[in-house]
This record gives sequence, C-alpha cells and structure tokens, in this order.
Amino acid sequence: MSTRNGASVLLSDEHAQLRANVESFAREEVAPFIGDLYAREEFPYGIVAKMSEMGLFGLPFPEEYGGGGKDHLALCLAVEELARVDSSVAITLAAAVGLGTTPIYRYGSEEQKQRWLPPLCRGEQLAAFGLTEPSGGSDAAAVATTARRDGGEWVINGTKAFITNGGTQITSVVTVAAVTGKPVNERPQISAIVVPAGTPGFTASKKYSKVGWSASDTRELSFSDCRVPADHLLGEEGRGYSQFLSVLDEGRIAVAALSVGLAQGCIDECLSYVSRREVSGHKIGEYQALQFKLADMEARTHAARLTWYDAAARLGTGKPFKKEAAIAKLIASDAAMVNAREATQIFGGYGFLNETPVGRFYRDAKILEIGEGTSEIQRMIIARQLGLPAHL
Ligand SMILES: Cc1cc2nc3c(=O)[nH]c(=O)nc-3n(C[C@H](O)[C@H](O)[C@H](O)COP(=O)(O)OP(=O)(O)OC[C@H]3O[C@@H](n4cnc5c(N)ncnc54)[C@H](O)[C@@H]3O)c2cc1C
Repeated sequence: MSTRNGASVLLSDEHAQLRANVESFAREEVAPFIGDLYAREEFPYGIVAKMSEMGLFGLPFPEEYGGGGKDHLALCLAVEELARVDSSVAITLAAAVGLGTTPIYRYGSEEQKQRWLPPLCRGEQLAAFGLTEPSGGSDAAAVATTARRDGGEWVINGTKAFITNGGTQITSVVTVAAVTGKPVNERPQISAIVVPAGTPGFTASKKYSKVGWSASDTRELSFSDCRVPADHLLGEEGRGYSQFLSVLDEGRIAVAALSVGLAQGCIDECLSYVSRREVSGHKIGEYQALQFKLADMEARTHAARLTWYDAAARLGTGKPFKKEAAIAKLIASDAAMVNAREATQIFGGYGFLNETPVGRFYRDAKILEIGEGTSEIQRMIIARQLGLPAHL
C-alpha cells in the first residue's frame, strides 16, 4: 500500500524526479537519525550538510548566484518530502530559503546579491528572517525595532522573537525589519536591513525549548546599538513592510507544503502499522472504523496538496496568489493537525511515545496553525481578498 505518487499528474518530469530524489534522501538520510537529534534538541548539522550537497538551499535561485535555476514549486516539493519524515529539517530548509535568502534575492542590488547569495545558495551558510517581536507577531506593522542613520551606518536597537535559524553555527545573516522613519499617510516606515552574524551589538539568545520542531533552531535576537554599513539596506528605504508581506505570501505556500508532508507522513506510518498490529486476532487495518479514518486522512491530504499546488502554479505564472496562499496555509495546517491526531489514535499508546514518528508528528503539527501567520490571520487575509472591510 502506498500513496507516494499523490497528484503526480500535475508535475513535470523534472519536478517529479526532484520529488523522488528528496523522498529517497528523507527515507535514507533523515529518518534513521532524526529521532535522536530531536530528543536531544540538537540542530541537524550533518543532515543539513547533505541537503546542501543536493543543492536544496539554492533550488529557486538562478545559477549565476550558485542556485539551481528551478522555481518555488521545486522548493515546496522538497519541503513536503522532507516533512513526510521530519518537520524540523523541513522548516530549516523552508525558512532558510523562503524567508532568509528570498528577501536578498528579491530586493537586493546586484552587488548585494553577488556578496551574500552564493554561500547561501550552496547551503554553506543560512539566512534568517527577523520580523516578529516579543510584543506580537500578528500585527506585522507594529514593529518597535528601530534603525537610525548615523553617517554611513545604520544603528539598530530592538528585539526579535522566535527567529528560525537565528543562531546556528552556520547562520551568516539575518534580515531585520526596523522602523527607519515616521509614518507617511499612516503607513509605517519600515525597512529591511541585513545584519551579519557576529556584528557587535547583535546577540542571539539560547535556543527556545519548544513543544515541537525540536531539532530546529529558534531564538530571540537582540540588537543594542548594533551598527551595520548603510549599504546593508535592502531595496528602497521605507518599503520593508510591503517587502516582508510579499515574502510571507510566498513563505505560506512552503508552510502549506510542509503541512501536507506531515499529513502524508501520518498516512505512511499508519498504513504500515495497521497491517502489522493485531488486536483480538485481527490486523487492525481490517477494522472499518480505522479504514474510514485512513480514507479521510488521504482525502484531506490530497485536497490540501491541491491547494498549495494551485498557489505555487499561480506564483510561477505571475498570477495573483495572495488569497490562494492563505487558503493553502489554512487548509493544509488543519489537515496536518487532524491527521496527526488521528494517527496518534490509530497507534494507540505507542502513538503517545516520543520515540514513534507519529508522536513527533503530533508535537510538530500545532505550530503549523501559528507560524507565518496564525489561522485567524489567514482568515483575515482571505476576507480582505473577498473585499470585506477591515474590522476588529
Ligand atoms: C517555532 C516558531 C518559529 C518562528 N519563526 C519565525 C521566523 O523565522 N521569523 C519571524 O519573524 N517570526 C517567526 N515566528 C513567529 C510567528 O510568525 C508568530 O508566532 C506568529 O505570527 C504569531 O504571532 P504571536 O506569537 O506574537 O501571536 P499574537 O500576535 O500575540 O497572537 C495571539 C493570538 O491572537 C490572535 N490574533 C491576533 N490578532 C488578531 C486579529 N486581528 N483577529 C483575530 N485574532 C487575532 C492570533 O491568531 C493568536 O491566536 C516563529 C514562531 C514560532 C513559534
């Protein structure tokens, strides 16, 4: 029994091959090792090095910057296949590429791209994205971190919360959202500024201990009179808010793909378990109650996968995709949560053990309804796209 080839008919041969390669990699190079790393809350440096060798960190960027010359769909396929086995590894890739490197590629000058992108695309270094602050992440405009010009430098002060890849040994840069002026027409003057790791005044706290994604690196970052050269500004001054919102729209497709991967991983594990576990003299897969659970899990996962494929296809062909990305994130994160709950139920007591993959999936699913915009925020985005007025 296998559901490995879900929605293949929609993929080019090249995309299908990439998906198959990452599927094998996840099974052979991630699955055997990730449980121990997760239990010890250790960042998977060895696995990340192998992902770099495969070219995963440069997938959607042009070859001239050391990238793979593919697209966002390719990145999301890789993220989905990794998440079938483990979400810590998948979010490390999704955040490094989708949130960390993308703003530099999308908004950086040619000189900035040449300076920062090659080692990021090769995966030798990781980039992070610093938007959320301790006072709140849902109201992305309420940035309190400031950056003031002093001669040829920006002087940054403030704190960022929950930053993925914020303090690994290979994190080289963090793109920080900071207020650089007074509001104009009630629009916040926020700019995106690249801060290299090791800059005096920039401190990464120790890693948070999290409910899930335990092998990923998430930290609070603080900036105290942290000075970087003026040419670390990405794009136009004061345009950071719209830049970040646009990066988040793309990032949501990757989180939707990650969610579908987790939902699929639950099915993979359960199909194997119900054919070997016996209760009352019967394989539990013979019980119709469990067959129906698995049928629903499969239907939910398939439907969720189509939402992110649609959003990625719209992005790839230059069509508006904001609403579709929010729908994909909303639907897929819900599918992941429900499948994780059902998978744990199917595994019975063994599903409640940290050592089983479904135990890990259960812990990893919840953040999918929170990170990169909560489910409430996705509903607000969809409502705005339907033309409904802003309200409390
Ligand atoms: C593991 C992890 C990794 C992360 N990685 C990053 C990262 O790399 N970079 C980064 O910048 N951020 C990152 N985040 C932050 C994440 O995006 C925020 O946690 C998320 O946006 C929610 O913000 P908050 O936690 O401050 O919740 P709050 O904004 O305080 O929201 C609290 C509750 O209020 C609800 N709410 C808020 N406003 C409204 C409204 N208008 N209407 C209805 N309900 C509302 C929310 O939905 C939520 O239920 C990460 C978070 C985690 C936990």
